[in-house]
Amino acid sequence: MSSVHIAELSWTAYDEKLKRDNPVIILPVGSLEQHGPHSPLATDTIIPQAIGIGVAETIDGLIAPPIAYGYKSMPRTGGGNHFPGTTSLDGDTLVRLTRDIICEFARHGARRLLILDSHYENEMFLIEGIDLALKDLKSWGIDGLQIMKVRYFEFVSEATLAKVFPDGFPGWPLEHAGVMTTSVLLHRRPDLVHMDKVPNQKPVLYPPYDLFPVDPKKGTQTGILATAKGATPEKGEILFKEYVACISAATREAFGLAA
Ligand code: MN
Repeated sequence: MSSVHIAELSWTAYDEKLKRDNPVIILPVGSLEQHGPHSPLATDTIIPQAIGIGVAETIDGLIAPPIAYGYKSMPRTGGGNHFPGTTSLDGDTLVRLTRDIICEFARHGARRLLILDSHYENEMFLIEGIDLALKDLKSWGIDGLQIMKVRYFEFVSEATLAKVFPDGFPGWPLEHAGVMTTSVLLHRRPDLVHMDKVPNQKPVLYPPYDLFPVDPKKGTQTGILATAKGATPEKGEILFKEYVACISAATREAFGLAA
C-alpha cells in the first residue's frame, strides 16, 4: 500500500495520485508550546498529525508535513509566550507560510485542502493566509481550490464530554495541557507523557481581559490551566476515534465525496 505521507512519496507517485484521485491534502497546523511539566512541547502538532493520518487513511487522502510552529501563546489559552520552549511566529510569518504552502499545493494540482488546526492562537492568521492564497490563485488563473479549516476539538460530542469529564467540563480555554490533550497523548504517545508530573492545582482563573506587557509572575506558574489528573488512555481512545470518524465524515460532506 502506498504511503499517506506526501513526504514519503516520489514526485511521480504524488503527481499520479493528484491527477487520478483529486485527493484531500491534509495540512496539520500546531505549535511548539509548553504543555505543562508532564507533556511535550509539540503536543499541538503531534495530535493533529495523528488525527490527520487517521483521516487520510479513512478518506484515501494525503497528509503533508505539518506547520510545527504557531502564533504566540496567550496567557488565557496557552499559559503565555514567556515559557521556555514556547517558540512562536509573528502573525505575518504564519500568514505568509500558510499562503505560500496553499499556493504551492494548488500549483501542483491539489484542489481539496483540509487544514487541521490544533493551536488556539493560530486561527485568524490561518484564515488570513487562506484568504490571501485564494486571491493570489485567482489572479494567476488557478481556480477550483476548496479549503476546509477545522479545529479538531470542536468535533467532540456532548456524550463524549460527559464521559471524559464526569464532574463537568471546565470549558475550552482551560483545556490547555488538560484532561483532553493529555488523554489523547496517553492513547497515542504514552512514551511522551509523565503522569507523575501533572500539577495538582485548581483551575487558573484569569480576568476577562488581556494586559500587555504580560507579567510572567501572574497567571499559571506550571503552564497548565486546569489539572490533567483525570486523564486516561481509555478517554484518549474515545476522543481520538471520535475526532477521526467525525472529521472524516465532515470532510466527505464538505467536499461531496462518496463514503
Ligand atoms: Mn496551543
